[in-house]
Amino acid sequence: MQVYISVDMEGVAGVVHVDQTRRTGHDYERARRWMTAEADAAVKGAFDGGATAVLVNDGHGDMRNLVLEDLDPRAELISGSLKPLSMVQGVAASHACALFVGYHAGAGSRGGILDHTYYGRVVARCRVGGRDWNETALNAAVCGALGVPVALVTGDATACAQARELLGDVDVVVVKDAITRYAARAMHPSAACARIRAAAAAAVRGAGAGARRPFAPSPPHALEIDFVNAACADAAELVPGTRRVDGLTCAYRADDAATLIQVIQAWTILAGSTMV
Ligand SMILES: [Zn+2]
Repeated sequence: MQVYISVDMEGVAGVVHVDQTRRTGHDYERARRWMTAEADAAVKGAFDGGATAVLVNDGHGDMRNLVLEDLDPRAELISGSLKPLSMVQGVAASHACALFVGYHAGAGSRGGILDHTYYGRVVARCRVGGRDWNETALNAAVCGALGVPVALVTGDATACAQARELLGDVDVVVVKDAITRYAARAMHPSAACARIRAAAAAAVRGAGAGARRPFAPSPPHALEIDFVNAACADAAELVPGTRRVDGLTCAYRADDAATLIQVIQAWTILAGSTMV
């Protein structure tokens, strides 16, 4: 049984500030080790639960955070960027399930540590089909289109609540509770890893034979992003097929979930180029 794991950083126990999540930040080297430990716990749990192969994808920032030699040697790692499918690069129909580790709340949430959707500096809000979609939903839709269900999401309490609300049938591990956007009450890294390993094992064990329903809303997908200012939307509008809704908002009708991820990347790269 093959298992896929996508790993982000803002939802890792102990992480509360960009000083920990940016390569240039003072506490980055510590935080990347916590992130690697949580990813490793999920890998070990997947093997405990019956996986025979595990593919891990580094999904944060420049996507070169996970320390390869500190990961379980049975796993393979995708790292680096740019990746057409970004946080879910490498997921395939052969995967029995996907696990999302270190995930966070979507842009515009209240009580979510470092909440954002894909590129926080330019995206104020992201909707699909008129509903707020966070990274969990966007990435789960790519997995779902391939028939791969998301079996486990780990992160702060708000990220986990959003995962349940958007995906329905999914296990979660809450590793911290946000007090405000930059403050949280967290588990110790070792305790978080133990919880993640056990939950990953249970989720993978229960993933056989179509037990869980993939998240696969039917296309077309009506994407809308509210940007932080009109210059960002001016740049995003250059992508062919984009409709400018108003000063801040661009829309796109995507025929499949992978196109959502590609359009969001193209929009945000262009929008980011306007930031002064
Ligand atoms: Zn993220």
